[in-house]
Amino acid sequence: MKSSNLGYPRIGEDREWKKTLEGYWTGKVTESDFLLQMEQIRLQHLQKQKDLGIDLIPVGEFTFYDHMLDLAVMFGFVPKRYDYEGGAVPLSTYFAMARGSNRAVASEMTKWFNTNYHYIVPELGDRKPTLTENKPLQAYREAKEKLGIDGKPVIVGPFTFLKLSKGFGPKELPALILQIVPLYIQVLQELAAEGVQWVQLDEPILVTSITKDEMKTVTYIYKQLNEAVPQLRIMLQTYFDAVEHYEDFMNLPVAGVGLDFVHGLDENLEALKEHGFPTDKVLGAGIIDGRNIWRSDLSVKKQLVDTLINIVSEEQLWLQPSSSLLHVPVTVRHEDQLNPIVKEALAFADEKLAEIKCLAENAANGEEEPFAQSKKALTRLNQSIERNRKEIQEAAAAFLSQDIQRNSTFEQRREIQKAWNLPLLPTTTIGSFPQTLEVRQARRKWRKGEWTTEEYDQFIQKEIRKWINIQEDMGLDVFVHGEFERTDMVEFFGEKLGGFAFTKNGWVQSYGSRCVKPPVIYGDVEFLQQMTVKESVFAQSLTTKPVKGMITGPVTILNWSFVRDDLTRSQVAFQIAVALRNEVEALEAAGIKMIQVDEPALREGLPLKQSEWDDYLQWAVKAFRVTTSSIADMTQIHTHMCYCEFHDFIGAIDQLDADVISIETSRSHGELVSAFHQNAYHKGIGLGVYDIHSPRVPSCEEIIEVIEQGLKALETNQFWINPDCGLKTRGIDETVRSLANMVTATHIVRERL
Ligand code: GLN
Ligand code: ZN
Repeated sequence: MKSSNLGYPRIGEDREWKKTLEGYWTGKVTESDFLLQMEQIRLQHLQKQKDLGIDLIPVGEFTFYDHMLDLAVMFGFVPKRYDYEGGAVPLSTYFAMARGSNRAVASEMTKWFNTNYHYIVPELGDRKPTLTENKPLQAYREAKEKLGIDGKPVIVGPFTFLKLSKGFGPKELPALILQIVPLYIQVLQELAAEGVQWVQLDEPILVTSITKDEMKTVTYIYKQLNEAVPQLRIMLQTYFDAVEHYEDFMNLPVAGVGLDFVHGLDENLEALKEHGFPTDKVLGAGIIDGRNIWRSDLSVKKQLVDTLINIVSEEQLWLQPSSSLLHVPVTVRHEDQLNPIVKEALAFADEKLAEIKCLAENAANGEEEPFAQSKKALTRLNQSIERNRKEIQEAAAAFLSQDIQRNSTFEQRREIQKAWNLPLLPTTTIGSFPQTLEVRQARRKWRKGEWTTEEYDQFIQKEIRKWINIQEDMGLDVFVHGEFERTDMVEFFGEKLGGFAFTKNGWVQSYGSRCVKPPVIYGDVEFLQQMTVKESVFAQSLTTKPVKGMITGPVTILNWSFVRDDLTRSQVAFQIAVALRNEVEALEAAGIKMIQVDEPALREGLPLKQSEWDDYLQWAVKAFRVTTSSIADMTQIHTHMCYCEFHDFIGAIDQLDADVISIETSRSHGELVSAFHQNAYHKGIGLGVYDIHSPRVPSCEEIIEVIEQGLKALETNQFWINPDCGLKTRGIDETVRSLANMVTATHIVRERL
């Protein structure tokens, strides 16, 4: 039995990758130093895996930004708008594609399957592909020459690459396949000539709902590769769920297949038992969770390995993480501030590799020390008070079995809520106002103890007052307090709720150099104190206009955290929902009668397989309703979602039963309006009328046009006016000018109605 890895986190134990990258961008690090430092980081990561005793070490998945971008560049898919005349793609062009330059906007970025990692979407329309370099080969040579590692080059496979790219229609796909397969062949041939044993081709798209016809295309592609390079062994790697079309998949002419036995465990195992496993292939068994941070109970994992050994022989088996370890932090080692019960139960990338090694070595006997240790650590956590709060578990369970509704229907509430006396096309914002350096410094001083809580609160009040005045002067209709007291929309709530832990160094890459540090939900989620009431009440005391209360919704808190895996996700979502319901009730009792519950991450929690959508949406929507349903009819619930694909999703949005939703639209305005229109959505809807991602101040005329477009499709009395999203990353001046134009534009349109 061999141990294998699919990919290692790039960012480094201390985020040195990020620092190097940003240093280079700002000009503090020269290009040659940049390349040198990156090489050191890369080699260090390989050395670590070697020291851990991993047999098949991935090479070539390391990147300066994103692995999909690397592949696009390797095939010469550089869109025309960038300076490029063929040959090796310069670093400046590479980063222009990733981040934009003065002359050309960046390529689109989107989520990598159901993860919080974002890749750069390759644009294939502009050029014929050519091979500009063989990056996997360079990586293989480097590992071999510098460290004596016989690495396993990793490349995103042709079908996944094409499916995730854009710039062509379905009719052009066959031609693109014919162009691109020869390039893969060339890469593989050069690898084979170099003496590479195994290459890992990632085809995660094969776990999504692909058609039988598409599977034929996949078969065609892999036949081509196999015929051209029969001597090279391909590990066809899937992850994030069970593979579709199991039998066709198993018949592909490759030397090994990788399956996820964590996220697709039941289905993959069942298929394996039913159809068996070819004797001439290797099974890469993803048994350790590459998406979550918990230590494994090694004896439970050993049982799984035993089950597998009954179907495939030991010589055919590789033990590996369920996916690349890109999605988990690097190591638990430096977490010296965590509750030891929690710390002992964690395993980040390095610890997961150690688990794999241990399982591969000790398959014969499960009595080894690490086995006992892992069980002990997990038992301790499972038996902790924090995981055994019966009242919380029962309250959440009770809601799960009930139908959750507000007192009255939306139509009835709409009549009652007319008493708000809002003008047509009410204007508002999404919640946050600029988090200036001053605001961030104030928080730092307070956290370090340089400021007392009183001083800090006073500072926050001063900011709130300033922005209530600004909103008053501009003539907005519904105000917000500005969220100055918040670092991040999930962390802020996690720090005030029970059952959350925060790591010191638990960073994961989100996109480019941007890393996030998700909170850890390890215990039952408990409402301990009011979280937002103080600031909202203060803001409301300064004005007669309504001030929206502002909280993050249960599904977003869930989806942006690392979540305990001894309960189902829906159980945890309901615990959060119950806690937030307390907050909503507290806000209402304190006189806050418009409450926004943000759910920007609702859609990204959708399962990869469409067949599982209903189940997810049912509990996700219900969790939102648990949070928002126990209030008076006059109290208006708002929600907000950032840009997402709304077309197949409007039913669920409607089910949330929020009185008003604000959404980001400027990236694809027309489509969105039509989606809501066609689906006869009647509740209040705020279409973002300008893009907040850029410092540019939109003119009145532009905004008027956007509003009038929207009015063609939606009813005048359901329409709200707001920016696309929160304004916390913007400067003060541009924010004030943009909002002022938004208000003026609204006044002009109102006159015309
Ligand atoms: N209320 C939040 C804000 O304005 C919403 C942010 C988001 O949707 N990502 O910052
Ligand atoms: Zn948003």
